[in-house]
Amino acid sequence: MDTLPCKGCRGLCCGPVPVTETELRSIKKYVKSMSSIRRSQLQNQERFYGTCIFYEQDHDRCGIHSARPSICRAFGLYQNLVCFRKPEAAGMENFHAKERSAGILSVDYTWRDF
Ligand code: SF4
Ligand code: SF4
Repeated sequence: MDTLPCKGCRGLCCGPVPVTETELRSIKKYVKSMSSIRRSQLQNQERFYGTCIFYEQDHDRCGIHSARPSICRAFGLYQNLVCFRKPEAAGMENFHAKERSAGILSVDYTWRDF
């Protein structure tokens, strides 16, 4: 699989994203497994306005990487989810979610829900 040049982007494409019930359950489980220190460190760091609540600004990466929603996994690799820094990586046809969205992460679901 083509890799994306994400280091240095500082969460540029990590804004509010649609999330399904199944994904919410996975994220809740993942967040519950964090130590209280880790949770607090991730929750309370400063982010750019509009950046995803789980973006780890301090380390320039997703703070819930193994539990991130499918649209985050798909980003940059599908023709309707092109990364402008590497458009040639979008080799697959349009991405279609397998499950209906339950809402928008960072808008409908915030740290209070996890
Ligand atoms: S997918 Fe593209 S825009 Fe998003 S962080 Fe990676 S390189 Fe940057
Ligand atoms: S869940 Fe992770 S990959 Fe998805 S938008 Fe938030 S920080 Fe970015």
